[in-house]
Amino acid sequence: MEGRLFIDGKWETASNGAFSVRNPSSNEEVGTAADGSREETRKAIEAAESARPGWAGRTAAERASFLKEIHRLMMEKQEELGELITLEMGKPFQEAKGEVAYAASFLEWFAEEAKRVYGETIPANSPDKRMMVIHQPVGVSGAITPWNFPQAMVTRKVAPALAAGCPVVLKPAEDTPLSAVKFAEICEEAGLPKGVFNLITGQNAADIGGELMANKTVRKVTFTGSTEVGKILMEQGADHIKKLSLELGGHAPILVLDDAEVEKAVDGTVASKFRNAGQTCVCGNRVYVEENIYDTFVERLKEEVEKLAVGDGFKEGVALGPLINKEGWEKVDRHVKDALDKGAEIVTGGRGWEENGGYFYEPTVLKNVTSDMVIMEEETFGPIAPVQKVSDENEGIHLSNNSPYGLASYFFTESMSRGMKVAEALEYGIVGWNDGRPSAAQAPFGGWKQSGIGREGGHQGIEPFLETKYISIGL
Ligand code: NAP
Repeated sequence: MEGRLFIDGKWETASNGAFSVRNPSSNEEVGTAADGSREETRKAIEAAESARPGWAGRTAAERASFLKEIHRLMMEKQEELGELITLEMGKPFQEAKGEVAYAASFLEWFAEEAKRVYGETIPANSPDKRMMVIHQPVGVSGAITPWNFPQAMVTRKVAPALAAGCPVVLKPAEDTPLSAVKFAEICEEAGLPKGVFNLITGQNAADIGGELMANKTVRKVTFTGSTEVGKILMEQGADHIKKLSLELGGHAPILVLDDAEVEKAVDGTVASKFRNAGQTCVCGNRVYVEENIYDTFVERLKEEVEKLAVGDGFKEGVALGPLINKEGWEKVDRHVKDALDKGAEIVTGGRGWEENGGYFYEPTVLKNVTSDMVIMEEETFGPIAPVQKVSDENEGIHLSNNSPYGLASYFFTESMSRGMKVAEALEYGIVGWNDGRPSAAQAPFGGWKQSGIGREGGHQGIEPFLETKYISIGL
C-alpha cells in the first residue's frame, strides 16, 4: 500500500517523499506513507478553514448522515481494516477486528450526539430581557494520535469533531499511518465535503505538531499519547491559550480484595493486562492482592496466563502479538530485570526474544513484588503482571493512588458497600469494578492528574469541540 497526503479532498505526494511502514512481527515493509511537512500541514489547515463555514452551517442531521455512512463503510470493510491493523501494528487479527468495531462505534455514537447539542434559556434578571445560551463549533481542530489503536484513536477524536461541526487535520503515529490513510479513503467514499477531513502522515512529528500548535487558525488540538509529549504541547499552546484535550499515559492498579470471586478477578486481570500485549493506556500495570487470597489468585492467574500463545497476529490461536518495536521491548525487559534484581520471582513467562526482526515477550507473572521496583512506578507497556501482597483494603487504596497518573483502575470485590467506598476512593477517571473491559463509546474516557485533560466518548466527548455563547437580549 502506498499512502499519500489527503488535503482538500485530493490525494497528494509529499515534497519530502515517502517513508517505509513495517510489520512489527517480521520487520517486512508493508507499505509506504507520505512524509508530510510543516508547509503541507499549513496547506491542510487552510483547506480545513475554507471548509469550515459550510460544514458548521449544515444541520446536525446532515452531518450525522455522513458519520453514519462512514460507520457503515467501516463495518463493511471490517476484515480489510482489521488486516491492516495487524499488519502495521501487530495485534492479533481477531482483536484488530474488534478494534475496527470499537472505532466505528464512535461514528455511530457521535452521529446521534450531534443532534443533542442543546442550548439553554435562563430566567432573566429583568422583565425586559431574555437570556439564552447556545453552543457553536470551536473551529478547525488538529488531532494527533498514537500507534496502539491505529483506527480507534483516530475515530474517537474525528467523530466528535465532525459531529460538532469542526473540520479536522489529523496527524497519525509514524508507526501506523496506513490505517489512517484507509480512514481517509472511507471519508472520501462517504462523500464528505472536501477539506472537512485532512490527513498529514509524516516522520517529523515536531514539525507537523508544531504547526498545529502554532497556527492561529487551529482553535483546538486533541492529542493521545505520552505524558511527556502532552507536556510539550501544553507549553506550546500557552502563547495562544490553545484549547487542548490530552489523553496521556496511565499506570493502572488492579486491586483484588479478599471477598472477590477469584475467577472474575483472574478473568478481568487477564483482559485488562494482556490485551494488545499490554500496550494500552488502560492496561493494568500493577496488581495488589490481599494477603489471604494472594497464593490462590497467583496460582489461578498462572494457569490462565499459560494458555496465552505469543506470535504473529495472523497465526490461528495467537493471543499476543509482538511489541511495537525494539525500544518498547527493551523497556519491558528493563522493568522485568529490575524487579528480579530487587527480589521478585517469576511465576510464569519472563522470556523475551527477537525473531526475524520482530520483538516478542512471553506473558509474564511476577510475585514477591515490592513498591520500590520500577515496574510499580512506571508505565511498562508490555505483557508483565507484577503481583504485590497487601495487608488490607486501605493499604491497597493507598498504593493504588500513590501515582502521578490517574487514567484507569480496577478492583474486585463481591461486597456492594465495600465496593462503593473503594470506587469512590480511587483517584482515577475510569474505575472497573469486577470489570476488566470498561471502554465503550457511550462512556466518558479520560484521566485525572498527569493522565490528561478532558474526556472522549460519552455525551461529554463532543463538548471539547464546542464553544459556549451566552446571548443577552433586551426587548
Ligand atoms: P507518543 O510518543 O507521545 O506519540 C503520540 C503521537 O504524538 C504520535 O503521533 C507522535 O508522532 C506524536 N508526537 C511525538 N512527538 C511530538 C511532538 N513533539 N509534537 C507533536 N506530536 C508529537 O506516544 P506513543 O508512544 O505513540 O503512545 C504511547 C503512549 O500513549 C503511552 O504513554 C500510552 O499510555 C498513551 N496512550 C494514551 C491513551 C489515552 O487515551 N489516555 C490511549 C492510547 C495511548 P510519531 O509517531 O511520529 O512520533
